[in-house]
Amino acid sequence: MSKILKSSGRGSLIVLSGPSGCGKQSVCERLNEYNNNFWVSVSCTTRKPRLGDEDGITYYFISEEEFKKKIDNDEFLEYNYYNGNYYGTLKANIEKYLEEGVDVILEVDVNGALSIKHKIKEAIFIFLMPPTMKDLILRLKKRGSESNDKIISRFKTAYNEINEVSKYNYVIVNDEVDNAARKMNSIIEAQKCMVDRIEEVYLDNPEEEIHELLIDNKEFINKDTII
Ligand code: 5GP
Repeated sequence: MSKILKSSGRGSLIVLSGPSGCGKQSVCERLNEYNNNFWVSVSCTTRKPRLGDEDGITYYFISEEEFKKKIDNDEFLEYNYYNGNYYGTLKANIEKYLEEGVDVILEVDVNGALSIKHKIKEAIFIFLMPPTMKDLILRLKKRGSESNDKIISRFKTAYNEINEVSKYNYVIVNDEVDNAARKMNSIIEAQKCMVDRIEEVYLDNPEEEIHELLIDNKEFINKDTII
């Protein structure tokens, strides 16, 4: 039997936000166990690397001067000033991966997500929540790489960000990394079944024959072709 549907082979653009310290990076790493057809974009930032950060992997760590040059050269899909530092998503490679059918994940703050929402209507917006606010502050402290002032500032920002959750399509509570990664994979898989992605429906034999019989209102239940 021929295929009945031709769906778009284009990758999905997934925008993942959530307060600093809620575990976005760990969830994306764990997602690898369920899905090997995605690419997480590497953003540019002017913040200093933390313990465990690797240049070119977690971020491209660049100076403010370099960042501003990239703004002038229109290299960013979006960028934002967050807690004293610039963060920006490079346009490069996003379209190439989507064309190739690879899903692209962008980890950005709420402002970044809203600016992408205006530009790319078909993007999917997922918000990752910490299980509790107490949990979030413990995670921020555990990183041990920032001053108390910075932690408090990130915590306050987190409060404001959580209030924006209704602007997203999906919310996942990161109570356990594996659970969160499985839920994220289910969301990505569900997008592939969206009716919007159908490019063509084929009604050729035997489907076409059945279709005609239905139109003619004939008795077709016992026809060999469909039993
Ligand atoms: P962190 O310093 O904890 O790595 O990141 C701080 C915040 O910046 C997080 O909410 C993170 O998602 C966000 N962020 C990371 N990359 C980008 C980006 O390219 N653009 C925007 N707008 N936010 C980003």
